[in-house]
Amino acid sequence: MGLLSLGTPLPWPEAKPLADHVRSHGISQFLSLWSKIKDRKGDKLLWGDEIEYMVVSFDENKQEALLSLRQAEILQVLANSHEQAASQAPDMIDEVPTFHPEYGRFMLESTPGKPYGCTSKELCKVEANMRRRRRIARSHLLPHEVPITLTSFPRLGVTDSPFTDPPLEAKGEASRSLFLPDEVINPHARFPTLTANIRRRRGAKVAINMPVFHDTNTPRPFIDPSVPWNRTLFPEDAEAGQGAALPDHIYMDAMGFGMGCCCLQVTFQACSVSEARSIYDQLVPVGPIMLALTAASPAYRGYLADVDCRWNVISAAVDDRTKEELGLEPLKDSRMVMPKSRYDSVDSYISTDPLNRPEYNDNPLPVDEGIKERLEANGIDPLLSNHLAHLFIRDPLVIFSEMVDQDDEVSMDHFENIQSTNWQTMRFKPPPPGGQIGWRVEFRPMEVQLTDFENAAFSVFIVLLTRAILSFGLNFYIPISKVDVNMKRAHHRDAVHTQKYYFRKDVYRAKPRHHTREASVAAAARNRSTASSRAPSPGAGQSQSNNARQTNGHSTPNNQRAAEPSPARHSRAGSPDFGPVEEEYDEFTIDEIINGVKDSDQDERSGFPGLIGLVYNYLDSLNVDVETHYELGLYLDLVAARANGSLITTATWIRNYVRSHPEYKFDSRITGKINYDMMKKLDEIERGIVEAPEFLPPFYAKRRQATAETEK
Ligand code: ADP
Ligand code: MG
Ligand code: MG
Ligand code: MG
Ligand code: MG
Ligand code: MG
Repeated sequence: MGLLSLGTPLPWPEAKPLADHVRSHGISQFLSLWSKIKDRKGDKLLWGDEIEYMVVSFDENKQEALLSLRQAEILQVLANSHEQAASQAPDMIDEVPTFHPEYGRFMLESTPGKPYGCTSKELCKVEANMRRRRRIARSHLLPHEVPITLTSFPRLGVTDSPFTDPPLEAKGEASRSLFLPDEVINPHARFPTLTANIRRRRGAKVAINMPVFHDTNTPRPFIDPSVPWNRTLFPEDAEAGQGAALPDHIYMDAMGFGMGCCCLQVTFQACSVSEARSIYDQLVPVGPIMLALTAASPAYRGYLADVDCRWNVISAAVDDRTKEELGLEPLKDSRMVMPKSRYDSVDSYISTDPLNRPEYNDNPLPVDEGIKERLEANGIDPLLSNHLAHLFIRDPLVIFSEMVDQDDEVSMDHFENIQSTNWQTMRFKPPPPGGQIGWRVEFRPMEVQLTDFENAAFSVFIVLLTRAILSFGLNFYIPISKVDVNMKRAHHRDAVHTQKYYFRKDVYRAKPRHHTREASVAAAARNRSTASSRAPSPGAGQSQSNNARQTNGHSTPNNQRAAEPSPARHSRAGSPDFGPVEEEYDEFTIDEIINGVKDSDQDERSGFPGLIGLVYNYLDSLNVDVETHYELGLYLDLVAARANGSLITTATWIRNYVRSHPEYKFDSRITGKINYDMMKKLDEIERGIVEAPEFLPPFYAKRRQATAETEK
């Protein structure tokens, strides 16, 4: 969550006329910042994660698991304890993790007290940091409350019995939802206003429809009996029966269904703006793969869905587009048709690296033309201008009356207003005023995992992959429209195993067209040598391939990144080596993308090393001691196992649990008792009290219990 300004938020009719003011000053603020920081260089490779929790309140008598709405009290207690820690050990305060509010009043977010470095030793400390945060959160809750890292709460918005503690009715002015009381929204004025203004701007409630999972006893068509079709409390109540609620779908009608989902985010600092732009681009195609691999949310509003992940739910939950912008009516009052929600996948690559071929940016990219012209007139290159002018097609949703007039030389508030309400799979974050923090890139698609072991594993994997990308100059570019196809496929039930995904065949940066296995092996060898030299010459080949350790004078990733791309690399870009874009990519299973493609004379993808292979190549180029290598290997093994199916995803675990519960009637319904038993079980699995061998590696429970001992 971005910054929480204080003040009086304007209702939509008063905010709307100020949209151009905010956009225009937002760009002035960006330009003013840009002139100061465009040449900023040498920032360290720091990174940090964000983990979101749901506070679940158990009622043992009624055998119910409810959502606790005590966020404000809990955060206050956590802040007090943080302050106490600060006064006791002022030098150590950076080490103390921090907790933040989120949209849902049943949610908490935690981050490390200060960002981590990227040395392999430091990566081994991430899990302990996450464990510590969970322990702190847990110890500040009431005895019947537990923080669970669950992406979607299966009974959020059910109407047959309460799902909140305390019990509440859905009749709030902000959401006007048939299912969600406004009290589940963080009461800070920003959030109810955001909710109401999205609805007002759109001209209707948001309409989220997730396909129901048709089990053996689920009626066809499925017309949801739990929708109060005939309610007449708000004019919007009629929408459900007028087509907003689709048959065979789980219908949801409020922002809270989306923003009430939890996720795992990772932010990286880059050494320069150009490095940040490269990382941003290279991670774009990785996004849908990691969404499918971390899938953890197969249940909504009391039903099993036929999807495994949250992304489309949130996308629809904040979709403020008017009928005209949606293309359902001819343009009259709205400025343009917008193909996507504010919460969606990335629409354009932004790196000026010549490897970013213009053909890859093949998505429609509506921009604010005036803003684009202004940015370009001020010396911003077309790729970055397009990116910003695309974000700035959106209206600001929450404007505080006290914040309308700002000094554009010092404030970034108007810029952040638009930037932070464009929720995409990646976010490009300019340095905030103040000077301590550099250019950053945020990786946002992953679903939060049940255990800190898994959260650490996926975070560390992405960090190491980023290091490998920079160190070897890897190239993952495919047309961005294909990334969107992958995004759609990633939503299918069991998308890890049932779908194929577009991915680049030859991921090495220097890339002559080769169609033989010998050529790919040579390319792989050439790549390994680049780990050491950092400046591959076109002739670099087999002879250097085993010399990584010897020729690598640097032992840490921090040093490795210092070199700028060599002219040799750049000259490739314009060379005739570049063939048709369509020949650069192919379809892969996630197992193949992660674990590599088996050698075969018949398969032209043969030799594809897999992202794990690339990460190991990178680790091999460092002088990692045996113990560290082993620890990091445990994380990489988890990622590999989830990809090859030897371990199931969280979503599959949840679906299997529901379907094997004695009370389940194979009608897609998740009753209160099923939910209660499942939450109990999830908590026990997390604590290592019961084993889940199909889901977590065999050592997990013992290891978790051992840390619990040492933490006492
Ligand atoms: P947001 O909610 O806007 O994404 P947060 O402040 O909640 O932002 O989280 C940002 C993440 O970035 C945290 O994990 C934090 O540790 C990390 N972080 C903070 N400073 C830096 C930095 N200089 N470089 C990289 N990561 C950083
Ligand atoms: Mg958050
Ligand atoms: Mg945050
Ligand atoms: Mg945020
Ligand atoms: Mg958030
Ligand atoms: Mg974030």
